[in-house]
Amino acid sequence: MDPLADKFVPIGEILKGGHTGNNVKIRGWVYRQRTSGGLAFIIIRDSSGTLQCAVKKDAVGEDAWKAVTEVFLESSIMLEGSVREDKRAPGGFEISGTNARLISKGEAFPIAKDQSVEFLLDVRHLWLRSQKLSQIMKFRDYTIRYMREFLFEKGFFECSPPIITKSACEGGSTLFEMDYFGEKAYLSQSGQLYSEALISGLEKVFILAPSFRAEPSRTIRHLAEYWHLEPEMAFYNQKMNMELQEQMLEHLCHKLAKEQEGLLVSLGRNPKDLLEVKAPFERLAYDKAIPRLQELGFKIEWGQDIGADEEHALTKDAKNPIFLHNHPKEFKAFYMREDPNKPGTVLSADLLAPQGHGEIIGGSERIWEYDELIARMKEQNMDPKDYGWYIELRKYGSVPHAGFGLGVERLVKWLLNLDHIRDCIPFPRTINRAYP
Ligand code: ATP
Ligand code: MN
Repeated sequence: MDPLADKFVPIGEILKGGHTGNNVKIRGWVYRQRTSGGLAFIIIRDSSGTLQCAVKKDAVGEDAWKAVTEVFLESSIMLEGSVREDKRAPGGFEISGTNARLISKGEAFPIAKDQSVEFLLDVRHLWLRSQKLSQIMKFRDYTIRYMREFLFEKGFFECSPPIITKSACEGGSTLFEMDYFGEKAYLSQSGQLYSEALISGLEKVFILAPSFRAEPSRTIRHLAEYWHLEPEMAFYNQKMNMELQEQMLEHLCHKLAKEQEGLLVSLGRNPKDLLEVKAPFERLAYDKAIPRLQELGFKIEWGQDIGADEEHALTKDAKNPIFLHNHPKEFKAFYMREDPNKPGTVLSADLLAPQGHGEIIGGSERIWEYDELIARMKEQNMDPKDYGWYIELRKYGSVPHAGFGLGVERLVKWLLNLDHIRDCIPFPRTINRAYP
């Protein structure tokens, strides 16, 4: 058998019943193995599933017997045999092996049961083979795919922003600084300022790129490097912006529930929960949220930011996300437009996920007029000189526009109801870890 030249059948196809009675070859990794007397049971996995194979010592050559008995968990292997339906086998099918060959036996796999979280993070490069993480990574892929599809369908163009930048758009305290040929530069916290430049040529754009935040604390929902989906739309106001967000999430949740039901179920999430996500989402103005929180016992006053505990309290019983909108302009970013109908507050909305998963989207209508932008920057003690090109966009045919930023891992954490954001990305970067 040749791992590249031969024709192999994906295990998932066998589990669907398409190969019953056929002689097939499979290739993958050893998931479990046990031998009793002259009979070996070996469970092999590939990216599409796991399948039990039974091999009789008498029925195969010496090399094949060795290949299925003298192996480690995670050794890579090829096996040939005939497919039978067998109710007792996990998955309902079994292969009676007639030949087998190791691709690479390797060494004893270092991960056994009941390992500590820290150890599993140290061997993340190996732990990513686990069923749970493989399934989460597949789910993450479908999540991204369906959002992309939705946006393409609406006429968006996907663009790529720079990662190295001189502008701080979400505040200086969480910037990763770097040496750029002798000058100071930063890893991007958001591509938004650049997507605002792109809409004059393309009108509706989105970028999907990593954003970097030197988050100073350990939390269950902050990464130092995360994937940021940032749509930006010309000729959109904040109302249209929120409607686009809720439509996108409803579409996503329903498509995941229908097309990835198996993944959801095996990851412990009831697909019905996602089918219950329906637009329109509740809109809760900041100035209504404050008294509601005070009633719930929080010591919070108008003008203070709403933190994780408050977000939890507002959403713990919700089935749908909630838009928290019209924040006081003092603690929101400089580019958010003041609401002409509610001076002192901006046309912003954070979308809070149910069950206390917290903010998954931050969006706003942007200041598009030159004088207004300069005035706001001065109010926030910013030097307009630091943002020369961005301000210049307002000098040449500026138009009303809006957009939002969604954290992909935050979204996945909510969709799968996971406890910690680190399992929503293959190699998490956090305050105390950038390895492996
Ligand atoms: P938070 O208050 O929760 O820290 P933020 O206000 O800093 O969020 P924004 O700057 O509005 O967040 O970023 C847009 C989106 O990016 C957020 O809604 C969230 O989904 C995601 N996000 C922000 N910071 C992180 C992070 N450190 N790790 C993962 N996702 C993040
Ligand atoms: Mn933050």
